[in-house]
Amino acid sequence: MPIVRIALPVPLPQLFDYSCDSISHADIGRCVRVSFGRRHETGVIVALPEQSDVPPARLKPVEHVLRDVPALPADWLELTAFVARYYHVPQGEVIALALPPDLRRANDVDDTDTDPLLTLTPAGWQTHDAGGRASKARHLLEQLAKAGATRKSVVRTWPDGQACADLLRRQWAYAVRPQTPARTAGQLPTLTEEQLTVVHTVCDADAGFAPYLLQGVTGAGKTEVYLRLIEQALKEGRQVLVLVPEIALTPQLEQRVIGRFPDADIVALHSGVADGARSRGFVRAMKGEADIVLGTRLSIFTPLPRLGLIVVDEEHDASYKQQEGVRYSARDLAVWRARQRDVPLVLGSATPSLETWRHAQEGRYARLMLTQRAIATQLPKVRLIDTRRVKLEDGLSPTLIKALESRLERKEQSLLFLNRRGYAPVLSCNSCEWISACPHCSANCVVHLKDRRLRCHHCGYDTAIPFACPDCGDQDMKPLGRGTQKLEEGLSERFPEARILRVDADAARSRKHWLDLLARIHAGEADILVGTQMMAKGHDFPRLTLVGVVGADAALYASDFRAPERLFQQMMQVGGRAGRAELAGEVVIQTEFPDHPLFQCLQRQDTDAFCKMALAEREEANFPPFTFQAMLSADAPVLNDALDFLVRASECIASDLPSGIFVYDPVPMRMTRLARRERAQLLVESASRAALQGFLTEWMRRLYRLSTARDVRWRLDVDPLDV
Ligand code: ADP
Ligand code: ZN
Ligand code: ZN
Repeated sequence: MPIVRIALPVPLPQLFDYSCDSISHADIGRCVRVSFGRRHETGVIVALPEQSDVPPARLKPVEHVLRDVPALPADWLELTAFVARYYHVPQGEVIALALPPDLRRANDVDDTDTDPLLTLTPAGWQTHDAGGRASKARHLLEQLAKAGATRKSVVRTWPDGQACADLLRRQWAYAVRPQTPARTAGQLPTLTEEQLTVVHTVCDADAGFAPYLLQGVTGAGKTEVYLRLIEQALKEGRQVLVLVPEIALTPQLEQRVIGRFPDADIVALHSGVADGARSRGFVRAMKGEADIVLGTRLSIFTPLPRLGLIVVDEEHDASYKQQEGVRYSARDLAVWRARQRDVPLVLGSATPSLETWRHAQEGRYARLMLTQRAIATQLPKVRLIDTRRVKLEDGLSPTLIKALESRLERKEQSLLFLNRRGYAPVLSCNSCEWISACPHCSANCVVHLKDRRLRCHHCGYDTAIPFACPDCGDQDMKPLGRGTQKLEEGLSERFPEARILRVDADAARSRKHWLDLLARIHAGEADILVGTQMMAKGHDFPRLTLVGVVGADAALYASDFRAPERLFQQMMQVGGRAGRAELAGEVVIQTEFPDHPLFQCLQRQDTDAFCKMALAEREEANFPPFTFQAMLSADAPVLNDALDFLVRASECIASDLPSGIFVYDPVPMRMTRLARRERAQLLVESASRAALQGFLTEWMRRLYRLSTARDVRWRLDVDPLDV
């Protein structure tokens, strides 16, 4: 009987052979269900080998082959094999990660769209134009008329969203099934000189693999450039993959893409999309029906037979790197995939990662620059306030208070940025040493005064604020430091007439909350926004003219060598929110270190100067990108078990260590304890990526055979972000 080789999502580094009659080469890439030990597993056929190491009599038969859905294409299998090789994880685990939920269970996928685009019917327009008695349905109709084609799921989140079914029943709106993707909607803005140059450079280049860094100040119109490039690709009958960071950005960008290409079949893939819709989107893309796939890091695994362009927006964003399980970087895989499929790749950012910036510097990527803002005539003015020299009230300097006052007078929006949610980072007793330490982590529980809770932001531990000190019984306890809730409280006392809106992970608990908040900000329902890094990314708020940064100094002297890079990117991003439309913007940064070179670069908004300086520092210290790293980490209930495993891991290869590979001593992680587990790490480095990879392959082979003490878990992170 023919043999099939299957990748299964089990933590073992090999593929598994089964038997299956009536199978052909066309079945490679099909999802299958098999019995595995006492369980059932689903996997994907990756090969039909002639022979197996398992004796024929012991080969178990495949239980089910999913034939209702096309087989996964060869280039997709190749991609997952590469990820398995490069990140040193079993291919079956990569496949399980890459497949959408239904295919992971080898279930059929019905690809009719249950989240279609809605637009007004002729009857809808008549009703809309006729006006008449106000009702929920009419309000919703008006909104839809204003917004243009919009996904049903989004319409439902609008203020009168419950009336959505009503609209459909009255036949005021209907679902459009996109057919011909060539049409672009509406009056297109005239491109600036710089934008034109960029679009021409990419479009006129010879076909084939070409990586670009699109470096443009915030508001330079990068998105407009993406849209033109997408348009070109669609005209050529190709598919486009657009990667965006995190869920936070997708609603706005998706709406913009839908608005521009009303007839294109657009698939959104992010964690806010329900399982069924994800599976359908994946299959539509795989069948070549979807024209544009827009999504977060996971969408790098979407099969796209007609792929013609990959765009990675905000390429520096840390969310492109998965921090658990298969620790892949979607940005790096985008480069690999563009080369594999021989298509152009555009990495866009106002503040490129040092890795990418260096590639561009050395000519491996072509650099495209947008130095001018598209609308606002100038970049916001950045002022540094030395907080050692002024008295702060509620954490605010007199300059910032004045700036806020003048915005309130002029009815413009302000944003105060503080990257710490909750009321205060810690509760402490005035009489003894007690502080609100998390019992499960080496971290403090954050005070959430609103609901009177202490919460650990690392493990989720959650308890009531005690009435008295648990150690000495004193009732005099006070919150130390300042989080967004406290900042909000101070502001509402100082500016009782102002409408203050807090935007952090607590206020935006779900996607619905988040969309609500965005809608309220856009509707001008807030005068002062208080936000964490959620607010920093890509949003466009026309009336926002002041950004105040309250307390960003911690990152300057953090032990993580990437912290300054992140701080600079974040400050540039958040500063870029100010003055996006016709109104001029201002950024006020409160710091104890106004002379720090990072702030100096920030004040001049000179990304190149910052990158140059930061790279020089990295080179001096021999940090990435001047060296390549991998991190083996282990955790256990007892620190010594974790350390002991790492010591043995290091010893098992010590005598065969190739030259040019450096294995450091195991050390406890910076935050040692997390969720009741003690964590340690072991860093490996090499100046050569190839040498490091060769070493890791052999090392992993030995690690899999190493016995572990009870309850030790370990994992390898290639190109780790947190070291
Ligand atoms: P970025 O992505 O670089 O931050 P966007 O593409 O979002 O910038 O552009 C910022 C604003 O400028 C948007 O409101 C966009 O519609 C507008 N815009 C972009 N290009 C042009 C142009 N050529 N003419 C007029 N407005 C433009
Ligand atoms: Zn006490
Ligand atoms: Zn904790």
